[in-house]
Amino acid sequence: MKLLNKCPICGGVLYTDTLYQFSYIQKINKSGKENKTRKKTSSGSMECYAIYCENMDFQTNYDLEVIEPKDFNESIYRYNDIFYLKGGNV
Ligand SMILES: [Zn+2]
Repeated sequence: MKLLNKCPICGGVLYTDTLYQFSYIQKINKSGKENKTRKKTSSGSMECYAIYCENMDFQTNYDLEVIEPKDFNESIYRYNDIFYLKGGNV
């Protein structure tokens, strides 16, 4: 395995796109309506990452599955906040 710290295609800078999923909790009050105050909660385990190259020749979806280029045969995983590449045939 190797560090994923630059674009494996062109060597360009990689960015992560972090998706946080929030949910609003609202209380239904005595009149059957939703209370005006709502509480924003985040569930820590729901945060997702996508990675893309500045030149857009390399891109993953939020499951870290490579969607560009189509024939890319290495998989990406994240361990201790570090992204790695793992060869498909290794
Ligand atoms: Zn690139």
